[in-house]
Amino acid sequence: MTKLKCPTCTRHRGPGHYLCQSCWGRLAPATRRRLSLRDDRAFARLRELHAALEARTPLPDIEVSR
Ligand SMILES: [Zn+2]
Repeated sequence: MTKLKCPTCTRHRGPGHYLCQSCWGRLAPATRRRLSLRDDRAFARLRELHAALEARTPLPDIEVSR
């Protein structure tokens, strides 16, 4: 069984979650709301999240598109 790791802090994250609970809680509310949507833009938002993480954007400053 593969253990899912949070890309920011490498702590365990649950299946279906992009980040661990602690990091998720540090995202801006609007960003959390958008990342929770499961529509045809969901993958594009996830890519934006990962690009922001790679650029070491502080979690509260990360924004994703609608
Ligand atoms: Zn984390």
